[in-house]
Amino acid sequence: MKRDREPIPQSRSSFLLVKCPDCGEERIVFSNSSKDVGCSGCGRELAESRGGKAYIQRNVAVVKRLG
Ligand SMILES: [Zn+2]
Repeated sequence: MKRDREPIPQSRSSFLLVKCPDCGEERIVFSNSSKDVGCSGCGRELAESRGGKAYIQRNVAVVKRLG
């Protein structure tokens, strides 16, 4: 079975700066986001919310953790 989404490590909430693989736009994602997060540049889905937890799409790079 192919995994195409990975949970953000650590159970406590944090903000992650992620980068869109398609257009390079950077976006902040809250790890406990209750909404899907799309790229503000091209509209690509960057993170999907499932059960109150954000799953970063594969190929979307986490630039840094903001705490
Ligand atoms: Zn984009």
